[in-house]
Order: sequence, then structure tokens, then C-alpha cells
Amino acid sequence: YYNENTIVFLNGEWIPAAQATASLYNQTMHYGNGIFEGIRAYDTPTGVKIFKAKEHFERMLKSAATMHIKTDYTVEELTKLSYELLEKNGITNAYIRPLFYLDPNMSLVPVDKTNLFLCAWEWGKYLGDKLLRIKTSPYQRPNPKSCHVEAKTVGHYINSILATTEAKQNGFDEALMLDAAGYVAEGPGANFFYEKDCCLYTCPLGNILPGITRNTILDLAKENHIPVEVKLFTIDEVKTADSAFFTGTAAEIAGIGSLDDYTFPMDWNESLGKKLSILYQHEVHATQNELKPIS
Ligand code: PMP
Repeated sequence: YYNENTIVFLNGEWIPAAQATASLYNQTMHYGNGIFEGIRAYDTPTGVKIFKAKEHFERMLKSAATMHIKTDYTVEELTKLSYELLEKNGITNAYIRPLFYLDPNMSLVPVDKTNLFLCAWEWGKYLGDKLLRIKTSPYQRPNPKSCHVEAKTVGHYINSILATTEAKQNGFDEALMLDAAGYVAEGPGANFFYEKDCCLYTCPLGNILPGITRNTILDLAKENHIPVEVKLFTIDEVKTADSAFFTGTAAEIAGIGSLDDYTFPMDWNESLGKKLSILYQHEVHATQNELKPIS
């Protein structure tokens, strides 16, 4: 993720990555209360563009507020810092990782100092390019009555780690998790869609991270007259589908070949998922059309 030339941002300073350290008296490390984002920047004909920076930093600030984490940073400042980060590291097609962590703080209330760490690295498609073999996870998504599943909170990712590890230990590439009521929710780091009879299906918000890629796909589907139904559905319904895919900033659009012992019958190249993944690549590499702050 970094080498001796990598520059990161830590609490107002630009420093070499190896010098960015945190103390062990850190609420984020002990109890998991911290907020992060996963954002991608892309080359466009008019220079680098951070895709949906506004949406990502709005979600980050909203997640922080939900978890009672205080910060004075604004969406504009965080966006500007992210462009500076890319410039200082001389990278364009990159993954950007901002993190709010609470240090020092050993209590169970997030009262002390909020720290901001920002780093970036060049990262290929998170789940790779080949069709995924996924399995139904024995791990449910966190119950929305026990935490705020819509916030991108550090501690929620133990659930994702357990699910992905269990899937890999059983010879699969990734997991598909259910919600507390037994309906399909999402993957450990991506939202889920399936296609049946030329219509796309995805679950409603409530038990999932409100994915920014999910929204982009919903918008692209609408613009291209692809019908989408947002509804709750079961694993059994998915096992009658023609095709399926994950969506996420890191994963982009990742085609799924099979779920448990069910193979999706449609050729991925003929699927709506493939069509949308081409449209998605076009959109992320399209000329800058959103706020790029003046440095
Ligand atoms: N669900 C989870 C649990 C995730 O970690 C992610 C990745 N941030 C997503 C969905 C997809 O969200 P986005 O499209 O905003 O990256």
C-alpha cells in the first residue's frame, strides 16, 4: 500500500507514510469506533477526477455524526485534501482511504480528539475480473436494531471479515449475506443485484450500506431504460435468476458466476450487468463534471 516515497495526510500535516503513527490508546483500535470511506479517482480527458467525491464525503460526515464522532472538516475541505494527496503522490487511477479515528480515548464515549488520516494507492478491481463463485454466508449482516448499518463504521467490518474468510475457507471467492429476517442483504464489501427476465433486482436500504455504486447503477439503469425493482428477496429467488453481480467502489461491477451449487445460466457478456459495467467505466472516466476545488 505504500513505499518510501508515499505521502499521507495526518491531522493537518503531509508526511511520509512510514512516519504516520497512532498511539495504542486508541478507541478505534480497542472498540472499533471510527469511520472510513473507500473512494476511487480516475483519469479523464481533462485530468484526474475523484468519482462522486461529494457523495462519499457526505456519507463520511453523516456516518461520523451517527457515531457521535465530532469533526470540523467539510466536504469541500476533504475533497480538496484528496486531490492534493493524489498530486503529492503523482497518482491518478487510485483508491483513496480517509479514516477518522479516536485517539487518545479509552472510554466508551467518543469525546476526545478526532484524527483524520488520508492515504491513497493504486489498486486493481478489488474482487478481480473473473466471474465470482460465491456462497450464502452463515453470518448475517448486523441487526439494524443493534447498530447503525448505514454508517461506514470500522467495527462493522468484523462481520465482513468473518463472512469473506468463511467463504474462502470453503473454496469460494466471496460471501453473500442475509439480513436478520433472512432476506438477501449484500456482500461483505459490495451491494448485490440479480437479473431475471430482463429486469434487475436489488434489496432496499435498511440492512445494507447505502452504496454509492449501487446508486450510480440505479441511475444508469434508469437513463438506459433498464427496469429495476427494489424489493426484498430470498436466496431461493436468486437461485432462479439469469445473472448476478456485486457493486462497490473498490469492486466496481463484479460479475457472479455461481451461488452455492447454482450456476447463473446467462452468458455474462450478454447480461445487463456487463452492459452496466461498460456504462459505469464510461461514466467514471468521463470528463470532470463535479466540483473540483481550486487549489
Ligand atoms: N456494502 C458494504 C458492506 C461495503 O463495504 C461497500 C463498500 N463501501 C459497499 C456495500 C458498496 O458501497 P460503495 O458503492 O459506496 O462503495
